[in-house]
Amino acid sequence: RAHTRNLRRLMDERLPEHVVTLLRDIGDLGDELGYAVYVVGGFVRDLILRAEENLDVDVVIEGDGIRFAKALSKRWGARVRIHRKFCTAVVIFPDGFKIDVATARTEHYEYPAAMPIITLGSIRLDLLRRDFTVNALAIRLNRRSFGKVYDYFGGQRDLKEKIIRVLHSLSFVEDPTRAFRAIRFEQRFHFRIDSFTLNLIKNAVKKGFISKLSGKRVFNELYIIFSEPNQIGVLERMAELRVLQAVNPNLPPIDEMRRLFRNIRGVMAWYELLYREEPVEEWILYFLGFIDKLHDQQAKEFCEYLKITNHVMQKVQAARNGYKLIERPLYEKLPDLQNSDIYHVFHHLPIETILFWMAKTRQEFVKKAVSTYLSKLRDVKPEISGNDLIALGLRPGPLFQKLLVQVLDARLNGEVATKDQELELVKRLVLTVESPGKS
Ligand code: ATP
Repeated sequence: RAHTRNLRRLMDERLPEHVVTLLRDIGDLGDELGYAVYVVGGFVRDLILRAEENLDVDVVIEGDGIRFAKALSKRWGARVRIHRKFCTAVVIFPDGFKIDVATARTEHYEYPAAMPIITLGSIRLDLLRRDFTVNALAIRLNRRSFGKVYDYFGGQRDLKEKIIRVLHSLSFVEDPTRAFRAIRFEQRFHFRIDSFTLNLIKNAVKKGFISKLSGKRVFNELYIIFSEPNQIGVLERMAELRVLQAVNPNLPPIDEMRRLFRNIRGVMAWYELLYREEPVEEWILYFLGFIDKLHDQQAKEFCEYLKITNHVMQKVQAARNGYKLIERPLYEKLPDLQNSDIYHVFHHLPIETILFWMAKTRQEFVKKAVSTYLSKLRDVKPEISGNDLIALGLRPGPLFQKLLVQVLDARLNGEVATKDQELELVKRLVLTVESPGKS
């Protein structure tokens, strides 16, 4: 019962006007070039689900996708990035909006978990290579049939019945990362994985397909999971299906991650409320919670396997050293911890490290210190600068830095509040220091 339903009305209702205009124009261009064109995948799924707006437009062309992308970009004054090897292109419009254009294709896998080999094909074959029925729907864009649904595998029924189902029994052999995707979609949409698919996942685990995946691909999946709202739900289900153990047998039971994950969520909610403008790589906090119970050596090996970038690795390492870098130095200054002490503990640390430790610590004085730092101290700076010191007749040198830090500390501790008071302080300090920098 392919192409019975028409979603033209739903599209007009749900999508921004500029997107509908663009989709219609894509259909018209298809007519001009003599190609059948479709929008496919998550875009169609989320449209039918009336889920949160998803404007990831994936277009599939029965014909030369690259030629189509070039013609489309010409019509709209857009840029185009071509991946000849995959017969795909990205069209980037002047306002930054992007769409993916692909040539209808089928993929063969030479052996499990290998990269696909591509040959040209029809929309049906293109949809057949996809992961789940709910992701294997297409909407035709050509003018005469604009809005027509192409549903070869029962995707509409499964959307209605809230089921994640593979298209065929070799699905996880072809691509074991689909096990992560199945669980992620199940948790995100509150669907359930059908029993046949569930058995295929268990089988893929048993046969070792998950553990054979490259770290890079596993990392990609973990990254997406930790960027979704219900990370712990996904992890629980992964543990239940033993996917998690296949990824890393040293990970502890989920029960031991739960407290930390809950705290991270609380800290993030608090932080976003207060300081929304500043970006945080939130997924790193959950990743840190995920590997928290691993020993240093295990964590190191796991990160190496996942091919974590240096930039992230630095944040991870700092956070794992939170006791040494944050908790102990603060503790040593008790009972009269000053704002300047707090400042110097935190100001060189990445925000992810600070927030993670706030979630992890059980010590009230640490939480209070983080809160003070972020709300009051982080942006404090002296009003005076090196030029003011020169104006006082001091010669630039190592003393400058020392004086400026002392002025900063005084400001943090509320001992000076104006530029004049800062200058007074400098004069006092210089008098008490026998300084070669003094002129
Ligand atoms: P999300 O909302 O998480 O982005 P999505 O379905 O749009 O969900 P993408 O990863 O952007 O996810 O993939 C787009 C489409 O490509 C999917 O809907 C699916 O049809 C297909 N796809 C993606 N990954 C795979 C895979 N591993 N195996 C088969 N098909 C896939």
